[in-house]
Amino acid sequence: MDSRFSGREFRAETGRVLIGIPAYAHACDALLGRDSAAIPNTYINALAQVGASPLIIPVIADQNLLSHLIDLVDGLMLIGGPDVDPVHYGEAAHPGLRQMTPSRDHMELRLTTWALQVKMPILAICRGIQVLNVAAGGRLWQDIASQVPNVRKHDQHPDYREDHLAHPIQIAPGSRLADICRQTRVNVNSLHHQAISQIGQGLVVVARADDGIIEAVESSSEQWVLGVQWHPEWLVDRSEAMLALFSAFRDACQSRRAVVGLPGAQHG
Ligand code: MN
Repeated sequence: MDSRFSGREFRAETGRVLIGIPAYAHACDALLGRDSAAIPNTYINALAQVGASPLIIPVIADQNLLSHLIDLVDGLMLIGGPDVDPVHYGEAAHPGLRQMTPSRDHMELRLTTWALQVKMPILAICRGIQVLNVAAGGRLWQDIASQVPNVRKHDQHPDYREDHLAHPIQIAPGSRLADICRQTRVNVNSLHHQAISQIGQGLVVVARADDGIIEAVESSSEQWVLGVQWHPEWLVDRSEAMLALFSAFRDACQSRRAVVGLPGAQHG
């Protein structure tokens, strides 16, 4: 790439979309236990496979900086992680609640609210579907196993590998998800102990496990918003349907850019 070529021109030339990924907040051993921002490479690799570029959004409180970063990207990908603080959906902590990261909750809820307002495409994975639902005013089961009767084991970690196909899901015919997967029953991995209990505004349930647990939601409007409770990024090498989730997300980001123009284009 010509060094005189700006990033914006490169994206216009290649059609590559830029995906914002809010990071984990954690203390990293390699950095002497200091707080760090991190993204597991499985997510980055899945985007790379469909020709999309990741932009890591660090865990920051500065609203101006966050607003600058979300303005740069074509889409928002919310990834896995610890529990969302139930204060964000008006509940007291249940004994089954696990680790939380309040600074990341605030950042992700802010970014998700903005992305919903400007109709930016959102792909929300595992914790991501929960953040999406809470940002839309919905609620969560804080611990499925102790709050919901007769459920299967959805928390397969650490007994099984991350790509273990734990259970089937039933996808609503006619949904965006069914269209992408080209089938209405698929087997998925399952690495969650929470799930949606009450759906947020503007979202619809499009997949459930056979015990009734909500496994996927979409936007009820034209906006491309898809939340999945499983981890498709671990399955892209073995499943065309899972890779198709990422390419459909990329396509939605490209389409939106064609409508709203490249970020900052008004100054260029
Ligand atoms: Mn599950």
